[in-house]
Amino acid sequence: MSHDPVHPLHGQKALVTGASSGIGTAIARAFAAAGAAVGVNYRSHADEAERIVQEIRDAGGEAAPLKADVSSEDEVRAMFDEFGSAFGRIDILVANSGIQQDAAFPDMTLDQWRRVIDVNLTGQFLCAREAVRRFLAQGPDPSISRAVGKIICMSSVHEVIPWAGHVNYAASKGGVMLMMKSLAQEVAQAGIRVNGIAPGAIKTPINQEAWQTPEAERKLLELIPYGRVGEPEDVGKAAVWLASDASDYVVGTTLFVDGGMTLYPSFRENG
Ligand code: NAD
Repeated sequence: MSHDPVHPLHGQKALVTGASSGIGTAIARAFAAAGAAVGVNYRSHADEAERIVQEIRDAGGEAAPLKADVSSEDEVRAMFDEFGSAFGRIDILVANSGIQQDAAFPDMTLDQWRRVIDVNLTGQFLCAREAVRRFLAQGPDPSISRAVGKIICMSSVHEVIPWAGHVNYAASKGGVMLMMKSLAQEVAQAGIRVNGIAPGAIKTPINQEAWQTPEAERKLLELIPYGRVGEPEDVGKAAVWLASDASDYVVGTTLFVDGGMTLYPSFRENG
């Protein structure tokens, strides 16, 4: 268990999915800075993953790129095997990979529906199941952490806010929320902590059109009481806390990192 406040993840081995971009990259960087060895999962952007890994190594940290499509059972299993070979054990999983495929409901294709559910929900199931199996097999090591293992499920404010035009995405995140809570209830007695992070609007490639122009950003800010669009680092810092022993009594909770987006801001003047 790390008593080092500067490196609260010292000695821990963390796998972050979708870490070649956006929020996943920020979490990988923040974990490495907090003392963890980091598996940087990517699906297709090997060059981006290599860049993050090199950056972490140049700063004196430990990291390895891991290619896998999180919606493929075989690839997920192989990724965890590769992670085990590289780092010897696993302490933290951040199931972060996610996609949007937006469409008006009457036009939404079955393929758009399935792809989003496959990556955002089934992908988290496959990764969380593999992590739980490995946490249980390796057992506790109080010199590393009070918990046997930690899982962070990347959700969204859309686990609670309905989202017209994005029905597949909102359904996937609502599913992530109850998967996270049900899993947390099931494995807490084995010493495994499962929690979620629900970001609001964070500046990443997934939602570029929502903040790229001043007009789009102004409209977006109407939804954010705190008055700024979030940065990936805002989520990285929250993930470090949720993965560390500082949050050891936090189990089955969604941590909203949203500048107040879930506070019904339109009620400020119209309630
Ligand atoms: P992003 O597009 O930058 O990153 C998504 C990552 O997922 C990429 O690294 C991508 O390679 C990876 N990915 C996609 N399909 C994959 C697959 N099949 N297998 C493995 N990896 C795959 O977007 P982001 O904003 O960083 O999104 C990260 C997570 O945060 C997602 O789950 C997203 O739903 C969630 N989120 C983002 C916001 C936001 O405002 N940016 C808000 C709420 C939730």
